[in-house]
Amino acid sequence: MKTIIIGGGLAGLAAAYRLAGRDEITIIEKEPEPGGMASSYAVNSSNTKTGTYHIEKYYHHIFASDMELISLIEELGLGSRLEWLRGTTGYFFNGKIYPMNTPLEIMRALPLLDVVRLTWLVLKAKSIKDRTPFDEITAKQWILDTAGESVYNNFFLPLLSSKFGDNKEKVSAAWLLGRVQIRSNRGAKGERLGYMRGGFYALIEAMAEKLKEKGCKIIKGSVYRIDVVNGAVKGVVVDGKRIDCDRVISTVSPHSLEKIIDSKLSGIDTDINYQGTACVLFGLREKVMDDIYWLNIKGDVLFGAVIEHTNFIPGSDYGEHLMYVTSYFQNPESVLWKKSNDEVAELYLKGLEKLFPGFRKNVKWWRLRRDLDTAPVYETGYGKKVLPYKTKIKGLYLAGMFSEANYPERSMNGSIVAGFKCAEAVNNSE
Ligand SMILES: Cc1cc2nc3c(=O)[nH]c(=O)nc-3n(C[C@H](O)[C@H](O)[C@H](O)COP(=O)(O)OP(=O)(O)OC[C@H]3O[C@@H](n4cnc5c(N)ncnc54)[C@H](O)[C@@H]3O)c2cc1C
Repeated sequence: MKTIIIGGGLAGLAAAYRLAGRDEITIIEKEPEPGGMASSYAVNSSNTKTGTYHIEKYYHHIFASDMELISLIEELGLGSRLEWLRGTTGYFFNGKIYPMNTPLEIMRALPLLDVVRLTWLVLKAKSIKDRTPFDEITAKQWILDTAGESVYNNFFLPLLSSKFGDNKEKVSAAWLLGRVQIRSNRGAKGERLGYMRGGFYALIEAMAEKLKEKGCKIIKGSVYRIDVVNGAVKGVVVDGKRIDCDRVISTVSPHSLEKIIDSKLSGIDTDINYQGTACVLFGLREKVMDDIYWLNIKGDVLFGAVIEHTNFIPGSDYGEHLMYVTSYFQNPESVLWKKSNDEVAELYLKGLEKLFPGFRKNVKWWRLRRDLDTAPVYETGYGKKVLPYKTKIKGLYLAGMFSEANYPERSMNGSIVAGFKCAEAVNNSE
């Protein structure tokens, strides 16, 4: 059987990993390197032993609950690189940074009654086993009913605004419950987060290497049509060239899929709303925040979070300090998508100067990464929209951020599970 996998992100690599050796597999990836949303920059640095280091284009860490990803890292012999470190968080509002790691710190930032109500909400969220009924209720409604308006306005509203912008009131309580449950690996001093020293680049490289050993090809190209004849996949068209195949696994967003296949013919519901991300990574001379890795922001700036990576992983690994500044955006009309790279960086720099006066002088270099389809918007009713691994078209399979494994939050673990489950669906149907 000849299988084409569209997309060399983690879902595509994971599906290939499980099918390689059995089938003739070709992964077609439009970018020069595999990795998709989890890919990295190679940065030249005379301050490191090798003269180069890798750092994710978008900030990445993992959670203790990411079991399949952790097992895969072990299986690939990379377990010693995985470390669990304190991921400190803070909250910028009213012109001040409030650390938010310990109960005491939270009490300093919020009114006492809000802290009591927030604690009650967290306990209640953690006790809910079946999130299905909460797919139809908005997160806003559930927070208001459970903890009241003050907790919503003071604590959740800025977080929801920074994550979902104009869609904040549409997001489901099922998503919120999932988030609260995932983020409960919190000791007395704060949350423990996982990271691979040297970057998740090593994982992607090891997967790609194993695939090549097993005869799988990874080629650069953009698929612009999936050919379906009499209800069965017959091939794909890549950069004007037709490649015959018996099976296609597509890992691209539903929005991109509808451009390469007739969705009426396929019966695939491509009506999942996605949002984009514009993320600038700054290489810095000096550290910026005292001891905060992740700072959520409520203020008059264009970004929703500042992530000082080298307050999580020591700057000595890179020979410099690194900070991500990021925002989601809800449609392609956003300035974050329309303006040039220089203009977006300048807009972020203006905001950073308000938070950290003199920031500009600290900057050695910056790089911007932005994409349109970086995360599904988990609106009410989303649970019913997740796409199946096996479609009605013979030979067409799907895996990615839109899969059930990535609900209620997309992650590297979710895309690996989606790839594995998709491979299982392939195996089960033949
Ligand atoms: C800002 C941000 C922060 C994140 N932080 C974390 C985190 O901290 N922890 C975590 O676990 N996860 C995080 N994630 C999520 C994680 O990166 C993704 O869930 C995962 O990498 C998605 O993998 P995927 O293969 O499903 O999709 P993608 O990575 O999107 O892969 C799809 C691939 O298809 C390719 N493609 C698209 N169209 C075509 C075409 N027509 N022809 C050929 N190729 C095509 C794309 O180039 C891409 O490589 C983050 C994501 C973002 C954007």
